[in-house]
Amino acid sequence: MIVVMEQGCSQEQIEQITAHIEGKPGLSAHLSSGTERTIIGVIGPASPDFRNELEQMPGVNEVVPISKPYKLAGRDMHPDDTIIKVGDVSIGGDEVVVIAGPCSIETEEQLMSTAVAVKNSGARILRGGAFKPRSSPYAFRGLGVEGLKLLSKAGKETGLPVCTEVMTSEDVDVVAEYSDIVQIGARNVQNFMLLDTVGKLKQPILLKRGFATTYEEWLLSAEYIMAGGNPNVILCERGIRTFETYTRNILDVAAVPSIKRLSHLPIIADPSHGTGRWHLVPTMALSSVAAGAHGLIIEVHPNPDRALSDGPQSLTFENFDKMMHGVRAVANAVGTHVASATS
Ligand code: PEP
Ligand code: MN
Repeated sequence: MIVVMEQGCSQEQIEQITAHIEGKPGLSAHLSSGTERTIIGVIGPASPDFRNELEQMPGVNEVVPISKPYKLAGRDMHPDDTIIKVGDVSIGGDEVVVIAGPCSIETEEQLMSTAVAVKNSGARILRGGAFKPRSSPYAFRGLGVEGLKLLSKAGKETGLPVCTEVMTSEDVDVVAEYSDIVQIGARNVQNFMLLDTVGKLKQPILLKRGFATTYEEWLLSAEYIMAGGNPNVILCERGIRTFETYTRNILDVAAVPSIKRLSHLPIIADPSHGTGRWHLVPTMALSSVAAGAHGLIIEVHPNPDRALSDGPQSLTFENFDKMMHGVRAVANAVGTHVASATS
């Protein structure tokens, strides 16, 4: 349930309510001071009697039950959008933030040339996989820690924050040492132990939607991370499985406005995995921005034909640059914007 405070209530009244909630075994309070009103969320199993108690306390306007199972990730308890800072980049406001880079880190040369190219075209964050989830055990599975070091170096040299995936709880510390954003991939969205572990990190978490997870399940996964102590979760729609075989996945563009209605967390789109085909990526990127996405994550490779993973969905430098022109135009049309590479 949430306690909606009266407009102009005193700090002391807010503290009294918070202390009252925290004083009950199994309950905790979550304060959200919005522009319009202050809301105190009650996390944990609260009885109807307790609701009545709270409703009679000074400064309280009303106490409203929350029917949704995700409390911290939902809008009810936190009406204002969450804006997540990564270096000098803010995700969740009115800037469309583009994360770009190769699917996998392969060599220093491949990564550095991509980092420079995507930065010059307007990307604000560099991506690159070092621990790769692959369907086949014989496929390239990433350079591991060596890849993390290359990524961190490329990030420092270009001034771009970096983002990479972690697949197991054992690797969380080393990935966090080298990465500014830690990615949980589609296959691990319901790996609850891993979600608990990244809940202890300070870095923002990029949480991909699984190819068979509902919005509610996805938001409950975000809830795991938030309940573990990390409030900075960026949601990423990356396509779901359907009966269609032409595309690798179907990018669910409706997820963008749906999640914005259900949650205060930033939502970005991944048209690379969401289509599996490079020629569809720019169109679906523009569609996602038109739908209100706070950002995009795009796979880019100096020579997609020779990529060790996800070549068919990777853009060349030239195609990425062209896409960015479209992204800027659509962002402007819907009242958002893309910051320039050097700002
Ligand atoms: C990736 O970003 O390279 C990746 C493996 O993504 P997903 O988990 O969405 O398949
Ligand atoms: Mn990939």
